[in-house]
Amino acid sequence: MNRRRVAVLGAGPAGLSAARYLSDHEHIDVTVFEQSENVGGLHQSFEVQGQEGREFDVGTILFNEKHGLLAAFPHLAEQMIAVRYAPRAINPQYSIDRYPFSIGRFVKDNGVFRTGIAVADLLFSKLRYRSRQSVPDYCKYYMGGTVYKRSGLQNYIKRLHNVDDIELDVEFAIRRLPQIRNNSLRNLIVSKLPGRQLPIKPVSGLRLVRSVEGFGSMYETIREVLEAKGVSILNGQKLESLVRVDDTFELTSNEKKYQFDDVISTIPIPDAMALIGEVPSSAVETRNLVSLFYVGNIAKPGNTFFNFTYDASWKRITVFSRFYETGSDAREDDYFTVEITVDDDVQEDDISVIADDFEKHIERTGLTLKKPELVGHYLTVDAYPVYRNSQSETVAHEKAVLKEFGIELLGRQGNFEYEISNIVAKQALFLTEKMLAENE
Ligand SMILES: Cc1cc2nc3c(=O)[nH]c(=O)nc-3n(C[C@H](O)[C@H](O)[C@H](O)COP(=O)(O)OP(=O)(O)OC[C@H]3O[C@@H](n4cnc5c(N)ncnc54)[C@H](O)[C@@H]3O)c2cc1C
Repeated sequence: MNRRRVAVLGAGPAGLSAARYLSDHEHIDVTVFEQSENVGGLHQSFEVQGQEGREFDVGTILFNEKHGLLAAFPHLAEQMIAVRYAPRAINPQYSIDRYPFSIGRFVKDNGVFRTGIAVADLLFSKLRYRSRQSVPDYCKYYMGGTVYKRSGLQNYIKRLHNVDDIELDVEFAIRRLPQIRNNSLRNLIVSKLPGRQLPIKPVSGLRLVRSVEGFGSMYETIREVLEAKGVSILNGQKLESLVRVDDTFELTSNEKKYQFDDVISTIPIPDAMALIGEVPSSAVETRNLVSLFYVGNIAKPGNTFFNFTYDASWKRITVFSRFYETGSDAREDDYFTVEITVDDDVQEDDISVIADDFEKHIERTGLTLKKPELVGHYLTVDAYPVYRNSQSETVAHEKAVLKEFGIELLGRQGNFEYEISNIVAKQALFLTEKMLAENE
């Protein structure tokens, strides 16, 4: 059989999983091109000075035992740690609730009279918003307008993208807010009937997290596995162009020209478009993510806190000490990451303003008893796509252009969609099987 040369653009969970599945076939040579000096894509941990032995991640990254990355690299399970995920929401009244919210807490905070209004509103919303054509309509249909607003969910959605809910495509709610549909009033009632069980998955419960040493060590193991199987992983690559030469591809990087039979792209669609000489659409929009690294004392139970209040821009706190320092090794203070979605023009100078906004807010909520200490930060570029109305058509067009050129698209950025790593790693298996079948 002729040898096939495959280029994988991007060394995140999707690209590495694809490389792993292809490397099982002796007639395939795989080269992975990565712009940064790391592998692992968005899965990054950082050690900061003065906090040796503690790794701060960009955010909460959880795995389950059937996770796609573990299917691709089964030995990773030995390095991972089982934890009990206990997410909490800080609601608009600054009380701590089950995530995303609970009926009991809603009644307590809003009183019986307003809860009655919320129920009437829910029944009315079932008629008024039944077409579910926008994000607010979708949420109001399942929760009612009163609960949507007063639970703080509306504000939280805004915080995720830094845009109002009405500007987002309803696809966002369908894909990223399944809990709303699963926990609709109808489902909750039906699930209580004898013999009826609905697939309502609990948000909290047992999960796996990366090893104490951080994602760096986990992904170095992945690199070693791949290199032992003959995969070349090239870091620090600046990709310049990709052209078709008959049935092959010529890829030019800052270092040299390469020839390939297949190209799998997991990099952002605008980057891939630019590589083939097409003008990327300006309508494809992303948000950056600021991760603030703190030490301090968290005064409430739980290991992840979501900001459902009406104020401040931070969206989630992950208390890593409650995953990693739970036994006799527990230190007196906690260490945690705070995530804030920001526009793509945020500069280093803005970090202190963002941190100040968080610190003042957290003091008001009572989650920390004294001001936590900011010990570091990290800016993740293009962390989230923005599901603006009509963006899906633009993306579909750009995907079609890339596919027509012959590029196989994979992963979160390759599809320019929010995809969790579990899904992208599983998609890597389907894609590589399809490619192998086509080339048989
Ligand atoms: C805060 C946060 C929390 C998350 N939590 C979870 C979670 O709990 N569970 C879960 O499953 N998923 C979670 N995710 C999502 C998960 O990180 C993504 O699904 C996953 O990273 C997608 O993998 P990917 O390989 O498609 O893309 P990426 O991880 O983005 O990897 C793409 C790679 O391509 C490289 N690249 C980009 N442009 C170029 C270029 N021009 N040339 C060469 N290389 C390039 C990038 O440097 C990167 O290494 C979270 C994400 C964030 C930001």
